[in-house]
Amino acid sequence: AGLLPFEHEPYHRYSDPTVAEAQRAAFRSVREQHVGRTLPLIIGGREEHGDGTTAVRNPADTRETVWYAQNATPDQLERAVQAATDAFEEWRYSDPLQRASIFKRAATLLRARRLEFNAVMTLENGKNWTEADGEVAESVDHFEVFAREALRWAQGKPVAPMPDEHVTTVYEPLGVVACISPWNFPSAIPLGMALGAIAAGNTVIWKPAPETPLSSYLLVELLFEAGLPRGVIQFLTGTNDVLGDPLVDHPRVRMIAFTGSKAVGCRIYERAARVQPGQTWLKRVIAEMGGKDPTVVCADADVDAAALGIVQAAFGYSGQKCSACSRVIAEADVYDDLLEKVVSLTRTLRGGLPEDNADLGPVIHERSAERIMAALAGKHGDARLVLGGDRPDTGERTGGYVSPTILADVAPGDSLFQEELFGPVLTFTRAESWEHAIALANDSEYGLTASFYSRDPAKIAAARQRMHVGNLYVNRKCTGALSGTHAFGGYGMSGTNAKVGGPDYLFWFLQTKTIAQRY
Ligand code: GLU
Repeated sequence: AGLLPFEHEPYHRYSDPTVAEAQRAAFRSVREQHVGRTLPLIIGGREEHGDGTTAVRNPADTRETVWYAQNATPDQLERAVQAATDAFEEWRYSDPLQRASIFKRAATLLRARRLEFNAVMTLENGKNWTEADGEVAESVDHFEVFAREALRWAQGKPVAPMPDEHVTTVYEPLGVVACISPWNFPSAIPLGMALGAIAAGNTVIWKPAPETPLSSYLLVELLFEAGLPRGVIQFLTGTNDVLGDPLVDHPRVRMIAFTGSKAVGCRIYERAARVQPGQTWLKRVIAEMGGKDPTVVCADADVDAAALGIVQAAFGYSGQKCSACSRVIAEADVYDDLLEKVVSLTRTLRGGLPEDNADLGPVIHERSAERIMAALAGKHGDARLVLGGDRPDTGERTGGYVSPTILADVAPGDSLFQEELFGPVLTFTRAESWEHAIALANDSEYGLTASFYSRDPAKIAAARQRMHVGNLYVNRKCTGALSGTHAFGGYGMSGTNAKVGGPDYLFWFLQTKTIAQRY
């Protein structure tokens, strides 16, 4: 629709010493510029202080506080909703071409600052260079994709014509959208939700995870720099007692776009269903939640390729992706061979500081590490610990470091097979046949991503039909969805399946008007 097809943003090649040095320099300048600063709130386009601040710690060494975010007050939440409501009256009628050109300009601005955005993310959430780079590249892609989607949805859809009426179907925005996002993808996830809202003509309350405010704040600033009217986004940080339930419950919030845990997603879904006094709509909720993502390996599969895909998907960012592979289900003929290959590849992963681009960094919090260790310590029947299961010695450094952990012969009924751990823990389960493997893969309340490895077209065809997931990857790893190509979102308790980055995503942020006109 007026814009050329785009190419996915390429990744930096850190094996090139010049590129690696540029990334190191970006860390130095980010530290100089941002460490110790306190970010403002943004309400109605103006910067404000809150009531006290929350410290952001470097998860790779929690002795270091990197920056601070404001704690918004209930009054500030109220004024933010009002400001978003006011701004909506103008933004709803804005020209989609204007929206698209703001996103195009933002893409250009972000391309020039990728290394800086990578460094900020690493210091906030402990992603190594490669993982941070992939995510910031995805953010550039989001700008390109949503520019195109804003134009495409503005065209409406054709309907069966009438001889005496002119009939059109058009899409209109909803109102104020609260975007509530997690720390594991602090750039691409809030941006995807906010751009969905804004591209459709809504205004936004942008509430990042408390762990990762600066990745968000810099994106909001970048959007303003690209020409977005400042009233369109309210940037709020703070505590759950002010920005949790009260934001979800607010009668003038029209929609909630959430990505995060199953527990919080379910809570939001339930609370949003209640019509509050003064509320004149049924709230819409999109919620992307967890996963317990399986990789099925059939007896005829390329075992080396499967092993590599499994290790990347299980231990990239220490398994802290809802798309991460946490369950391997393999046919008996390849089970031992695959397990051995996965273990030996995992042994080659280097632990250390994400800021040095180590393969394995910490999990987000000390208490997350403790939770993972407690889950491993439970009763697990005949399961065998093959690798890890402990916490590495990191000397003086404090943080939630957990060794990459592999357990074999885990039974389907085991909590390790069923419950999302959000850490570097991988289970192996033996299947009697490839059909049995598919059944085991589907034995989960979740249904986000899955990988299926086989060379047999008949098995692949069956997997395509029967695997109960929103994102099925055949003969490749199950992480790393690309915006505009791999619409992302799951089945079952993985959420509402809104499919960010896909052709239908904007529909969630719109309502449909039919206009029949006689002359
Ligand atoms: N979209 C990401 C991927 O495909 C995962 C997002 C998440 O973990 O929340 O790997």
